[in-house]
Amino acid sequence: MASIKKVAVTGGSGQIAYSLLFRIANGDLFGKEQQIDLRICDLPEMTDALEGLAMELADCAFPLLHKVTIGHNLSEMFDDIELALLVGAKPRTKGMERGDLLQENGKIFVGTGRALNEAARKDAKIIVVGNPCNTNCLITMHHAPKLLRKNFHAMTRLDQNRAAALLATKANVPVESVRKLSIWGNHSATQVPDYTQVEIGTKRAVDLIQDQHWLQQEFISQVQGRGAEIIAKRGKSSAASAASSLIDATRALYETTREGDWYSSAVCTDDNPYGIEEDLIFSFPLRTDKKGNYEIVKGLEWDFFIKERIAVTQRELLEEKSHIAHLLKG
Ligand code: NDP
Repeated sequence: MASIKKVAVTGGSGQIAYSLLFRIANGDLFGKEQQIDLRICDLPEMTDALEGLAMELADCAFPLLHKVTIGHNLSEMFDDIELALLVGAKPRTKGMERGDLLQENGKIFVGTGRALNEAARKDAKIIVVGNPCNTNCLITMHHAPKLLRKNFHAMTRLDQNRAAALLATKANVPVESVRKLSIWGNHSATQVPDYTQVEIGTKRAVDLIQDQHWLQQEFISQVQGRGAEIIAKRGKSSAASAASSLIDATRALYETTREGDWYSSAVCTDDNPYGIEEDLIFSFPLRTDKKGNYEIVKGLEWDFFIKERIAVTQRELLEEKSHIAHLLKG
């Protein structure tokens, strides 16, 4: 059996974590042979909730759950971890502007980055889910200079999964036959779900679906608006699908990507092959090799429609960065 994996999850008493932690403990993340040392973090006032959660995890008698630690001191909780799933963040409240949310949550990620810098393994992988996740990830990365910049991610996998499911339904095929779907840019309403490279079975999606209006208008806006649509129906956010996509997003970083496909994750733009400004966290199509290293898929061409939208999402990320520039220092 492989050595025990030390994994930290923040926002441990939140909705996403409630779906996520049981899947991790069940072996859905690293397989049925891999023991896990799970560190569940949240604010001091959430201690009772974390204690209850730890009781439930114990009651499941998961054979792979070697150890569970709950706590709020991130420097202690991140000791020697190789993976951090940063879910904890304040939700946007009524009347709150995106700029306010950036400031509020940005501060949280300064502390998180410093704690990672102090305690985590240098090659730890970090995935940020708490919104606005791209910019929160940028802040975290800046405050954890000892860690590899390449290993910081913000999750766009839920957007990818939503887009794949929509295309599969439209083409009336199983979802696993949808390949080469890219999400470019920010995990926000400006994200660009790129159908132009998608292959469905042996055909290109644009040839199979043959409905340019649906692809350019309805498909993109449905992916962008899916979260709000679910809140309107359920009265609660899409926490279970976010958790499930986080499992997919993490596995994609460890497992060799299947032939003829790629996945999307927002990563640091340093040296990117698409001319996106450096020092941003931007979603690209990636492939993971046999050694567990990823590369941005090179050489994809953007038509005018996609290119225009990518410019918009890049601009939004630059604006977000300028809003929190003071949080990137020191
Ligand atoms: P959730 O667990 O539902 O969501 C956590 C974060 O994930 C939010 O930022 C949310 O963004 C984001 N998110 C990304 N994708 C999705 C999606 N598809 N559906 C829902 N959320 C998504 O939030 P809770 O309020 O239930 O829990 C948050 C936890 O974080 C609490 O336990 C709280 O105590 C903790 N927390 C920790 C802080 C700290 O300092 N460490 C500070 C504040 C909170 P969005 O709001 O845009 O939905």
